[in-house]
Amino acid sequence: MPNPYRVVMNNTILILGGGIAGLTTAIALQRKHIDFMVFEAVPEITAVGSGISLAGNAMQALEKLSVADDVKAHGHLITSMIIQDEKGNYLSALDTRKFIEEHGMYNVAIHRGDLHKVLLKNIPTEKILTGKKAVRIQEKADGVVVMFADGSEQQGAAVIVAEGIHSAIRKQLLPDSQPRYSGYTCWRGVTENQWGITQQAIETWGPAGRLGYVPIGNNNVYWFACKNAPQLDERMKNFTISDLVKNFNGYAHPIPEIISSTPPENLIWSDISDLKPISRFAFNRVLLIGDAAHATTPNLGQGACLGIEDALLVAEELSQQNDPVVAFKSFELKRLDRAHFIVNTSYRLGKIAQVENKILAGIRNFLVKLTPQHVNEKQVAKVLNIA
Ligand SMILES: Cc1cc2nc3c(=O)[nH]c(=O)nc-3n(C[C@H](O)[C@H](O)[C@H](O)COP(=O)(O)OP(=O)(O)OC[C@H]3O[C@@H](n4cnc5c(N)ncnc54)[C@H](O)[C@@H]3O)c2cc1C
Repeated sequence: MPNPYRVVMNNTILILGGGIAGLTTAIALQRKHIDFMVFEAVPEITAVGSGISLAGNAMQALEKLSVADDVKAHGHLITSMIIQDEKGNYLSALDTRKFIEEHGMYNVAIHRGDLHKVLLKNIPTEKILTGKKAVRIQEKADGVVVMFADGSEQQGAAVIVAEGIHSAIRKQLLPDSQPRYSGYTCWRGVTENQWGITQQAIETWGPAGRLGYVPIGNNNVYWFACKNAPQLDERMKNFTISDLVKNFNGYAHPIPEIISSTPPENLIWSDISDLKPISRFAFNRVLLIGDAAHATTPNLGQGACLGIEDALLVAEELSQQNDPVVAFKSFELKRLDRAHFIVNTSYRLGKIAQVENKILAGIRNFLVKLTPQHVNEKQVAKVLNIA
């Protein structure tokens, strides 16, 4: 008797995960007229989270998918990136208008919920199935079968795994791949922009930890704070807004005010981990993308940006190649070095930015101040994939 829960879709690409990488891939495949279905584990995709910066490389990809204008309309254009010490003395200040003028590359900071809404608007609702947690895949001669936690199965031509850092399917394919704890923990929040902050992303490096803030759409400010701590530390987990205000007391205006004005229900806590670089993204008819393939620490603000780049490229490869095995292999060849560069550079930058020892921090600040502007610009160009 045929399995009533099994649907065979021979030409369909199955996308596992409805995060930024999965949804952008759905849009990119749609633009190329390639049939797809998205399977998302949670029962409902909701507008949660705090803010996110989308750098020029991601915005350029979103432009190609015709969603950049909508993202811009809901976000805030950022034209300078500043690193300062806890007293507000600048260690480096990068004017990113140069990248707009010379490469048409601009940064936008946006609430994650708004970004999700923009992406969802571009995908027919019937193309997304929620409450579908993939648990295993099985390759066949002419396709791949995905097995879900609810007992159902789907067969498609190929599978794109966009399940995030804890991807179940990556663990099946590469049992040794594990998230790597960075050594610091992080709080994020969103509050009303009462300080008239415009177009600047400011990161403060100090002995009590690191704090960054950036204006986003709807006259709000998104901020994050990182502190060195053991993994899953109960004390950090229980930190409240007033604990954070105490911790960052004495940091340059308006840092303490930004934290204290944040509604407690907007506070999000998580340890920061990445995925130690893996040597493969393509496994015949199965491809890992986004955080499932190359989760990075957020120090370069590139995790989601890489996932968006992935989405554009995988659709391009599939549109040029009938055989997904060949398309996925070509994707892997083009992506491994870039993804590893971002993951490794971001990991190292985090170690430098998180120095809390006063003497070492003083030496670091001195060296950062000495770094010539053209060197900083060159590094940013490499991150944006234009160098
Ligand atoms: C503090 C912090 C700040 C950051 N700031 C930035 C920034 O400014 N800029 C930037 O570019 N990046 C940033 N990032 C990184 C960015 O958040 C991630 O890279 C991005 O969200 C990853 O998207 P994804 O779609 O690959 O994975 P996820 O966002 O993890 O989405 C995965 C989706 O798959 C679903 N799923 C999981 N398992 C299954 C399964 N088995 N079956 C089906 N569905 C499943 C999940 O429910 C989820 O919806 C930051 C990260 C952190 C932690």
